[in-house]
Amino acid sequence: MKFDDYRISPKIKAELKKLGFNKPTDIQFKAIQPILNGEDVLAIAQTGTGKTAAFVIPILEQLDSKLRKKKVEGISCLVLVPTRELAIQILDVFKTIGKDLNVVCSSIHGGVEQDPQIKQLNKGVDILVATPGRMFDLVSQGHLDMKKLEFLVLDEADHMLDLGFIKDIQDLLKHIPKKRQTLFFSATITKKIKTLAYSLVQNAIRIQISPNNPVAKNIDHAVAFIEMDDKRFFLENVLKEYPESKFVVFVRTKIRAERVMAAMKRVEVSTEFLHGGVEQKERFEILDRFRKGENKVLVTTDVAARGIDIPDVDYVINYDLPDVPENYVHRVGRTGRGNKRGQALAFCSEEEKLFLTEIEEYTGEDIEHYDIPKGEYFDIIADSEDASHNWKKLIREDNDFNGTEEEW
Ligand code: AMP
Repeated sequence: MKFDDYRISPKIKAELKKLGFNKPTDIQFKAIQPILNGEDVLAIAQTGTGKTAAFVIPILEQLDSKLRKKKVEGISCLVLVPTRELAIQILDVFKTIGKDLNVVCSSIHGGVEQDPQIKQLNKGVDILVATPGRMFDLVSQGHLDMKKLEFLVLDEADHMLDLGFIKDIQDLLKHIPKKRQTLFFSATITKKIKTLAYSLVQNAIRIQISPNNPVAKNIDHAVAFIEMDDKRFFLENVLKEYPESKFVVFVRTKIRAERVMAAMKRVEVSTEFLHGGVEQKERFEILDRFRKGENKVLVTTDVAARGIDIPDVDYVINYDLPDVPENYVHRVGRTGRGNKRGQALAFCSEEEKLFLTEIEEYTGEDIEHYDIPKGEYFDIIADSEDASHNWKKLIREDNDFNGTEEEW
């Protein structure tokens, strides 16, 4: 099945073509037609599967044909997301795919002044992408008219629960019509998520991208057993072996990230660090440099990277294994985007083996175990450019020095 085979506006098809989207991904194949048919959807799919376009395409299609016939006062579609980055990203997808349509899209989120957002709302918005905090500020000030809402989308619902937005989401129901189409997306499924989902959707079509296996299919997973103190040499080795590739390196804490960056700096590999404390403007700049390939190695933590769409990541390195197996799913979802293949490589130390077992049980994923032969292991350490460990280089320099002395 190709996008050309769908009964959707040629204007949408043209934009999809420009984006290089020819055929739907798994989630798109399963979700687009039911959404066009007016069904509620409950989907377990993580970032990287193409889930954004899976709801953006059918919503744009339906609203465009309706709004062409009759303009509606107030918001027709509300997309709730946990973070401002995700809000901006999703708005961008709506605007890109809906470029030539009759639909006005906007976003509201914290971290910026609210006045320009209110002005935009007053001008009229059909599709609004919002974070719960800012949305409720504006609802309580009477700036949001959702009486005619037709679509409610919750994206990364699990993350919204983690951030404590459950009450906000429940309160929202007081402000929107009962009769609506609800699309619920979550990367992981827990009892809490199920309860929330079933309080929102009605007779929903359930989609799970691969049952018992929440990890996207087009990713190769491998784990190498490396002692904690040796990991930096192996990271250096991989980064230098693939200088043209883009890497996202996950570490457990900010301090670990700083150490990794310092170690890479010593061996002249440039990296950038994305963490929760980075100012909004700087975050965009860091992500932009990474997107453009000006920086190829992004070091980050689980919290800072969640939900961010970073296209064309070739490798996800789990420099530290996550202690929560769900985070493995979120991390590796950064690669193997859309229909591309991605690589996920984990460095597992002796003390992390338990985490590895938990991850394998949770994902049901075959992670290839790579026991590095002893000789190769020590060669990689010996080959490091890190002055204090580069035995070969030190010996070479020593020989050169002696050699030069003799020539004198
Ligand atoms: P998402 O899971 O929505 O964050 O999308 C992940 C990535 O896949 C994004 O960078 C999209 O541009 C890309 N993508 C989405 N749908 C398709 C498709 N049908 N073909 C190729 N790439 C896609």
